[in-house]
Amino acid sequence: MTSHDPGPFAGVGAITASETNPYEAMLARFDVAAEKLGLDPGVYEILKSTDRELIVSVPCLMDDGSYRVFRGYRVQHNLASGPAKGGIRFAPDLTLDEVRALAAWMTWKCAVVNVPFGGAKGGVVCDPKALSLGELERITRRYTSSILDIIGPERDVPAPDVNTNEQVMAWIMDTYSMHVRHTVTSVVTGKPICLGGSRGRREATGRGVLFALQDAARVCELDLSKAAIAVQGFGNVGGIAAELLHAEGFRVIAVSDIEGGIINRRGLDIPAVLEHVRRQGCVVGYPEADALPLDEVVEVDCDVLVPAAVENVIRAVNAPRVKARIIIEGANGPTTAAADQVLYEQGVFVVPDILANAGGVTVSYLEWVQDRMGYFWDEEEVNRRLGLVMSRAFSEVFEMSRRHQVPMRIGAYMLGVDRVAKSMKLRGIYA
Ligand code: NAD
Repeated sequence: MTSHDPGPFAGVGAITASETNPYEAMLARFDVAAEKLGLDPGVYEILKSTDRELIVSVPCLMDDGSYRVFRGYRVQHNLASGPAKGGIRFAPDLTLDEVRALAAWMTWKCAVVNVPFGGAKGGVVCDPKALSLGELERITRRYTSSILDIIGPERDVPAPDVNTNEQVMAWIMDTYSMHVRHTVTSVVTGKPICLGGSRGRREATGRGVLFALQDAARVCELDLSKAAIAVQGFGNVGGIAAELLHAEGFRVIAVSDIEGGIINRRGLDIPAVLEHVRRQGCVVGYPEADALPLDEVVEVDCDVLVPAAVENVIRAVNAPRVKARIIIEGANGPTTAAADQVLYEQGVFVVPDILANAGGVTVSYLEWVQDRMGYFWDEEEVNRRLGLVMSRAFSEVFEMSRRHQVPMRIGAYMLGVDRVAKSMKLRGIYA
């Protein structure tokens, strides 16, 4: 990029009070992709809005005998390519706009990896840390019964996301099955293996992050055996990504979770950090490292940054202090639209969320396929198929971004939006 070239993100996601609204962040990138594709104005209008939004009230009998009412959402963004697919998140600060953005990202993500699903997302506004296991189960079951009419193997297939896990998926599967009077394992993915889950699903998003980094390092000519890597978030995505990166012999120098971060420039012993987390509940206090303030992990002097926690951690204000050459977005929406421009000017190679963390939905698709076949592959076969899907998607996004001279994020949006638009046109618009 030359100094007088404003770049593809110029004017996109201007630094405003709404910089951190995830739905606006999604629309900002969608607008750029739609314009570059010359998208039909009617298709543009349809894809800009969500297809269906369900808001439900979730009463729960608390352990102390009182009742509390929680709010639940399920948003389906687009169903042109197949049943909707997307996670369920439990979080105290969950908003409808966040769920809308996450649903739309699922539409583009499924299209980028070419799995036959549309996009959806859901969640309940609650703080799971403040709930007993029984309260969590009752909330999950009541929420499931309230969204029952719009989910199902051919309609909308939930999966785990922030603060939900295999156990929550088992409760959803059981509640749905009780209502329809027979066991329907394919109504959710990310289930326990003994209930129709897929081998490799728990590790799939982290493994996809590893594959995306290996592809990115190849095109950026970065020697991963010498690289320093920082990972933000130490849950399903970040913890497993760090574990797999370490197992490959790469040097993970910093990790963090909601309680804080740790750094050791010689490289962290990730299995030992995971063991510390199992015992202490967080990475803080791990003895073989120095403490790192929560927000500083994205600014650590490193070659590769993997944000794998929450949205909006790289904003216009801190993007100039990012030192990594490569960012692999394990989380959904970790970079704001305003920060895209800053990173672009700094020459950072960003593998966007809708490609980098698509390993999860890819193996969810494989789980749904196995449930419907009633026949299950071994982990090697699942990982082999995941590798093929991820490397093909990376090449297609890279090719799109080269051809149109746009960053990988816009290339990924262009690939995804174009595929969904083609499906819509072929089906015809029932208007
Ligand atoms: P998780 O609940 O298992 O883990 C989240 C981690 O982030 C925890 O370690 C938590 O302590 C940490 N965290 C939360 N806020 C933080 C902050 N401000 N700073 C640092 N760490 C913080 O959730 P997950 O499933 O790993 O999801 C993480 C991200 O990846 C989300 O954006 C999610 O949408 C996305 N994602 C998840 C999957 C999946 O398969 N689980 C697939 C695709 C994308």
